[in-house]
Amino acid sequence: MKEYICVVCPRGCHLSVDEENDYAVSGNSCLRGEAYGRGEAKHPTRIVTSTVRVRSAVHPRCPVKTDKPIGKEDMGEAIRLLDEVELIPPVRRGDIVIASLFGSGTNFISTRDIDE
Ligand code: SF4
Repeated sequence: MKEYICVVCPRGCHLSVDEENDYAVSGNSCLRGEAYGRGEAKHPTRIVTSTVRVRSAVHPRCPVKTDKPIGKEDMGEAIRLLDEVELIPPVRRGDIVIASLFGSGTNFISTRDIDE
């Protein structure tokens, strides 16, 4: 049995997931919590946020995030790839910073505008 706190809404229900019983979830107050608990037990994923270098004296870093959750096991390598990136302004919110991480179709995107 695995225990989690659901982070889907502020209520923070305490979930129990029974891996030996087809990942049955208990402690949830709604179906979103059931999906969250099952996902955490089977394959936990996260939206990754970080920053990358920018060739700019005014804004030397630009915040970025993945546009979909990625597996927790890939987070370290994904962040390491950002060390190799330097953006050249102008940068627009939503610009793709790294396309299709690990061939997954998930991109790192910029989350702010940076003018020249
Ligand atoms: S189980 Fe439902 S009500 Fe409880 S924290 Fe998760 S989303 Fe909110």
